[in-house]
Amino acid sequence: MKVLVINSGSSSIKYQLLDMQTEAVLVSGLVERIGEAKGELTNKAFPGTDRQEVTKIEQPIPDHNTGMRLAIDLITDPEKGVIRDRAEIDAVGHRVVHGGEAFHQPTVITDAVIRAIEETVPLAPLHNPANLDGIRVAVELFPGVPQVAVFDTAFHQTIPAHAYMYALPYALYESDRVRRYGFHGTSHKFVAGECARLLGKPLEQCNLITVHLGNGCSMTAVEQGRSVDTSLGLTPLEGLVMGTRCGDVDPAVHAFLARNKGMDIEAIDAMLNKESGLKGLCGMNDMRDIHAAIGKGDARAKLALDVQTYRNRKYIGAYMAVLGRVDAIVFTAGIGENDDVVRRESLRGLECFGVTIDAKANAQRAKEPLKISAADSTIEVWVIPTNEELAIARETKSVLN
Ligand code: ADP
Repeated sequence: MKVLVINSGSSSIKYQLLDMQTEAVLVSGLVERIGEAKGELTNKAFPGTDRQEVTKIEQPIPDHNTGMRLAIDLITDPEKGVIRDRAEIDAVGHRVVHGGEAFHQPTVITDAVIRAIEETVPLAPLHNPANLDGIRVAVELFPGVPQVAVFDTAFHQTIPAHAYMYALPYALYESDRVRRYGFHGTSHKFVAGECARLLGKPLEQCNLITVHLGNGCSMTAVEQGRSVDTSLGLTPLEGLVMGTRCGDVDPAVHAFLARNKGMDIEAIDAMLNKESGLKGLCGMNDMRDIHAAIGKGDARAKLALDVQTYRNRKYIGAYMAVLGRVDAIVFTAGIGENDDVVRRESLRGLECFGVTIDAKANAQRAKEPLKISAADSTIEVWVIPTNEELAIARETKSVLN
């Protein structure tokens, strides 16, 4: 079975074609700057193998339809293509950011499902319309091929009401479904499943804290395999300190900025999403640059690292209290997989709760899962690379089977 995975953004499309017999990636690609004067497509056939072949196209790409058609032409190119015909694609899996309360699991796309995704647009006005563009283009390009929507929010639909409700007037929940949803669910679910396998236990018996630290950051409390709390909220702004997003702040900051700085709601929203987080604190949002600056004595860069890792530690402590027994803490995504300093600092002082790091193991870099806790640590600590495309392809396959 061959599954095409599509992650459609407002001006970009990421795609991968996977052979699900071996889970090998046949093609991965990125269409960028859709709708701008100069568009770009980068297509990698057999990525990461000795057969890898990279093709780049630069030309105006006015819309998602044109972008996806260019990609499909390359994938099925008689000389360079990895398949002969579109008909070899058995299913298409789509990343959809927000499934609201309607979607608890990956879902085969029908007209009714498209309408239900349209209804969640007010909850994710930047993401869901772009995801819908990708779906509409794929339905047109692959008529009759099953299409599956895999939602970032679905894994978190098991969170109980006492954890997803905000202490706001209840009428807001009734009228507009204002509540915590959580995101990165596909990644949290994937690494939780991998961790259970590594612990040698069924996922249904595992209590885990999964820590996704990339540009966006979130943490999830997983109880007996189910998400019971997560740090991102109504939108992907709450919780941990992210690259450019603030995470938790006093919600009164909006009123303060409006009254004292004359900022309107659009300016405040843009500031909290794009000019805050690590970037707001020290001017840099890539953790590699921050470490380089700390090495040169940059005190603000050190502060940014300290604020982020302190927040991580606080949430880990909170989720220990939520779960009671914890089998393992799992780090994943760009920072979580690569940054031993962030991992060490995020777990500093937790020895009294049964978390001890093996400094040597933590300093290692691996593309494979790595256990970094000491032998006498009662809670295991793992670094497990996430793979959202593979997760979407697996979910797509399992729904169709
Ligand atoms: P996204 O949330 O966009 O999927 P990623 O999970 O790819 O992001 O994470 C990107 C971030 O990971 C970068 O902004 C950078 O801060 C961090 N990162 C990537 N490589 C390293 C590294 N070797 N050391 C520390 N941080 C890294």
